[in-house]
Amino acid sequence: MTTYAMVIDTRGCIGCGDCVVACKNENKVPVGLNRDWVVEATRGEYPNLETEFRSERCNHCGHATCVTSCPTGASHYWKDTNIVLVAEAKCTGCKACIAACPYDARLIMHPQGYVDKCTFCHHRVDQGLDPACVSGCPTHCMHFGVLDDRDSGVSRLLRERRAKTLLPETGNQPHVYYLL
Ligand code: SF4
Ligand code: SF4
Ligand code: SF4
Repeated sequence: MTTYAMVIDTRGCIGCGDCVVACKNENKVPVGLNRDWVVEATRGEYPNLETEFRSERCNHCGHATCVTSCPTGASHYWKDTNIVLVAEAKCTGCKACIAACPYDARLIMHPQGYVDKCTFCHHRVDQGLDPACVSGCPTHCMHFGVLDDRDSGVSRLLRERRAKTLLPETGNQPHVYYLL
């Protein structure tokens, strides 16, 4: 089993949206739909306000409720990894996975009738490349790699810096980390 993770340094994110554009170009995401998006979260009280930009997408959960809820097996893990994919031909468009995802990461109903989502660009990962959004980030605040490998960049970052995942309490075991 290989566990892939994305580690994003929120302090380096300027909210430019280039990750969204890179994903659309790479994956030919239909006009009006996105596999990733940038959230602007403001905390604190005036005048002590803090803004965080977060590039979000599917968390490629270790315990993915979208996979367990899919009645047809369309939602599945790629090879022996945590990368969650949708087999287009098996998807009936029932939307059970959309209801089961606590991250609202599956809001895309592709015009051809199947649920679309982030694939961690597994076609690029297969060639030893980073996902398109990671490669396209102009501030290099996004990192991708194998979590089980102690020497990988993502493992090192998670050892050296504090990080959070979104909604850890769901038990889904998300694999997109945000450095604090
Ligand atoms: Fe599934 Fe949602 Fe987890 Fe992605 S974030 S693997 S769509 S449950
Ligand atoms: Fe599975 Fe498709 Fe239904 Fe989602 S919409 S649960 S992928 S069959
Ligand atoms: Fe899009 Fe690939 Fe980034 Fe997922 S990993 S958001 S599919 S570019």
